[in-house]
Amino acid sequence: MRIDIVTVLPGLLESPFSHSILQRARNKGLAEIHVHNLRDYSGNKHKSVDDYPYGGGAGMVMSVIPFANCIDHLQKERSYDEIIFMSPDGELLEQPLANTLSLKKNLLILCGHYKGIDERIREHYVTREISIGNYVLSGGELPAAVLVDAVVRLLPGVLSDETSALSDSFQNGLVDAPSYTRPADFRGWKVPDILLSGNTPEIDKWRFEQSLERTRSRRPDMLK
Ligand code: SAH
Repeated sequence: MRIDIVTVLPGLLESPFSHSILQRARNKGLAEIHVHNLRDYSGNKHKSVDDYPYGGGAGMVMSVIPFANCIDHLQKERSYDEIIFMSPDGELLEQPLANTLSLKKNLLILCGHYKGIDERIREHYVTREISIGNYVLSGGELPAAVLVDAVVRLLPGVLSDETSALSDSFQNGLVDAPSYTRPADFRGWKVPDILLSGNTPEIDKWRFEQSLERTRSRRPDMLK
């Protein structure tokens, strides 16, 4: 999978993709992530990428020209399965959407800033708008990093234990069971006996019951 991200703040995206699972995915060649600086496509000598909003009002708007230049340039090199705009009014990012996107080959993600981006980019280029939650952040970079993490960890070979993404919360409509590791007794806080029993079928059964119980108590909405 190849993911291209367009941003005015490329530095903000360096760290999230340079550690742990995402870095491993890149090193293994399972995911290629390319970050593009929108200013390189500004088309003006001041490298400006925003302007005052038509009709007045607070906040700057990201201009149509830099995004159009950048997307046109990238589309000449490959076609994208989706051109995604991170936006608080988009479709809410949930596990099924991450699953769907993990099956794509080329994704292009646009990060907004300030008041947002010129609507014409959304109308003429964007194929999907995604929100990471009902709150407003100052830019699309952190949402893009969240999306990329949710998608890339699903690619076969990225997680060391390939089945583990499937047993995570939401994949089977339930939240995950509790986890424990050594020591078995810490200050008298004991690990449930069943997990020390070595009886795999019984452990699976216990985990499933825990998942169900937790979903009932924490996320009854998921059982509807
Ligand atoms: N005026 C806009 C908010 C702009 S916030 C509105 O009220 O909807 C600036 C940018 O941050 C957005 O263009 C978007 O790219 C990003 N952003 C902010 N919150 C987000 C969220 N919850 N999910 C995804 N992207 C978000």
